[in-house]
Amino acid sequence: MSKETLKANLREIPDFPIPGILFYDVTTLFKNAECLQEMLDTLYEMYKDKGITKVVGIESRGFIMGGALAARLGAGFVMARKPGKLPAEVVEETYAKEYGTDTIQIHKDAINENDVVLLHDDLLATGGTMAATHRLVQRCGAKKIFINFIIELGGLNGRKAFPENITVDTLLTL
Ligand code: IMP
Repeated sequence: MSKETLKANLREIPDFPIPGILFYDVTTLFKNAECLQEMLDTLYEMYKDKGITKVVGIESRGFIMGGALAARLGAGFVMARKPGKLPAEVVEETYAKEYGTDTIQIHKDAINENDVVLLHDDLLATGGTMAATHRLVQRCGAKKIFINFIIELGGLNGRKAFPENITVDTLLTL
């Protein structure tokens, strides 16, 4: 899909969640039926020949396209969630944030050594959240891992958070 279509449908909210932050609101990409379909078609074309067996979506905006794409690819879908949300036994990774730390979890039996995994989230900022999810899925023994975001904030150099040999694709760089 064209970067212009994505840009035109993305809403910018100044001073959210706190003053000084410009927040990119992806809900406007999801609510537009044509835009949603185009994003899904584009992602499907990017990954249809990669042998993906599981898509991991990061809470919560990564669940939307992640779930839709998993169904389209004929792959399973796995939720990566904040602590206290998943009901069965979990594995977790903790990562540094600007202030303090955060933790991401998946079910212990969600990924195994036969899986080719696509990690998906809506937006790449510093890369901390995705890098922790990548470590987690690697620990589970995944055979191969791909990383995808809809939007990348290019100025923050978030790609540096990932190992060099990993493929990181984004639909739009801002
Ligand atoms: P990172 O860990 O610094 O790369 O932050 C990325 C995480 O924060 C993702 O889960 C995003 O959903 C969320 N995030 C940060 N900034 C924005 C934004 O402007 N719009 C939507 N999500 C954002």
